[in-house]
Amino acid sequence: MLASRLSSKLPQIARVSSSLTRQALARNYSAMKMAVPSISEHPTSLYAFTEEELMFKDTVARFAREVVQPRVQAMDDAEKMDTEVINAMFENGLMGLETEGEYGGAEASFTAAILAVEELAKVDPSISALCDIHNTLTNTMIRKWGTPEQKEKYLTRLATDTVGSFCISESGAGSDAFALQSRAEDKGDHYVLNGGKMWISNSGEADIFVIFANVDPSKGYKGITAFIVEKEWGVQIAKKEKKLGIRSSSTCVLNFDDVKIPKENVLGKVGDGYKYAIDSLNEGRIGISAQMIGCAQGAFDIAVAYSHERKQFGKPLSSYQAMQHQFAQVAVEIEAARLMTYNACRLKEEGKPFVAEAAMAKFKAAKVAEQATSYAVEWMGGMGFLRETGVEKFYRDSKIGSIYEGTNNMQLETIAKILLPKYK
Ligand SMILES: Cc1cc2nc3c(=O)[nH]c(=O)nc-3n(C[C@H](O)[C@H](O)[C@H](O)COP(=O)(O)OP(=O)(O)OC[C@H]3O[C@@H](n4cnc5c(N)ncnc54)[C@H](O)[C@@H]3O)c2cc1C
Repeated sequence: MLASRLSSKLPQIARVSSSLTRQALARNYSAMKMAVPSISEHPTSLYAFTEEELMFKDTVARFAREVVQPRVQAMDDAEKMDTEVINAMFENGLMGLETEGEYGGAEASFTAAILAVEELAKVDPSISALCDIHNTLTNTMIRKWGTPEQKEKYLTRLATDTVGSFCISESGAGSDAFALQSRAEDKGDHYVLNGGKMWISNSGEADIFVIFANVDPSKGYKGITAFIVEKEWGVQIAKKEKKLGIRSSSTCVLNFDDVKIPKENVLGKVGDGYKYAIDSLNEGRIGISAQMIGCAQGAFDIAVAYSHERKQFGKPLSSYQAMQHQFAQVAVEIEAARLMTYNACRLKEEGKPFVAEAAMAKFKAAKVAEQATSYAVEWMGGMGFLRETGVEKFYRDSKIGSIYEGTNNMQLETIAKILLPKYK
């Protein structure tokens, strides 16, 4: 009841707050810009969010508590996302976060989008994955490289009622993504796509797919091209995977068997797909960092609250110094990962180099999520091991952070590549 009332109000809250504050902020920003060129040049806290970002964060936190929370356990048990939650995500502007208003989007800043991903993950990392991948990968690709016609046709649907997927990985192409074998053959006025994809998030619900395929394998990775493909053209869901964590987020194997793609559905330039993939994943992984800090925080909040309630040896668990020090240590780690994530976020927004910082943030956040959620289970003892407390779910959900959008080793590879030349 409360949830449905809230969800009917949230779009107005989000829209009104975003348009009103946007005007005020635009005025303030232009005044500020003259005095303070950028956040990083002016020593200010990484928590110095704009009024709009703060409002967005609070609105999403409330949405997560009121709309998502009551359904989390059932969705995890069923390994399926509740369509009411997906619909509410659309109604509340969470599926077109950075998308321009003319296409039905919320026109949020990148930081606001990242905060939304974090807030959702505090309650459910699966819903957070849906939001993150749909926004930071699928929408971003079309926003950046789509033609005006593609934006009109697809961004509008992606912001209002249609889930999107980002499809690059294949059975033989994971960390080595550009080894992909899916082939798109030029047939004059259209391409014919054959091949398949593995581990594709959101694909169980999606109707719009950004698919990477090679148009000319003789050119190697320079033949890789991105396409916008509609499910009804022949994208087959071959298998839905059963997983350790983020179980309600669908992860499927896709097959393409002579899928006809009109030429106007090439996304960006033919042969530039590899550049778009690198670019999108570089910024997308800041979203995964946010998902992981949310996951860590969600488990931490439940376990530490429990420590005040639970008594052993006649006193609350929270009164024992050994416990307090562990809480403090994990809080330090979460804070470090969060600051690294917000830093990468701001650098990206300011148009400064951010790739190493994003890789560092994701690497750190994935490690912290595993550590914090593992401790949270332990801090709750037997109760932490039971499904009903929700903490074991965060523990399972944390593991994906070190795998998708680049494994931990791949993050280290990126960091080292940027770091080492500085010492030559
Ligand atoms: C739940 C889930 C959702 C996903 N969602 C999507 C999606 O929406 N879209 C999409 O395109 N993909 C998606 N993926 C795929 C994901 O990005 C890949 O699984 C990931 O990139 C790792 O590839 P891989 O599984 O083939 O592992 P591999 O590349 O086989 O790696 C296995 C291990 O070897 C290590 N390794 C590999 N190469 C090296 C090297 N050169 N040096 C050192 N270590 C190395 C890795 O770090 C890892 O520890 C998803 C995966 C999962 C599990």
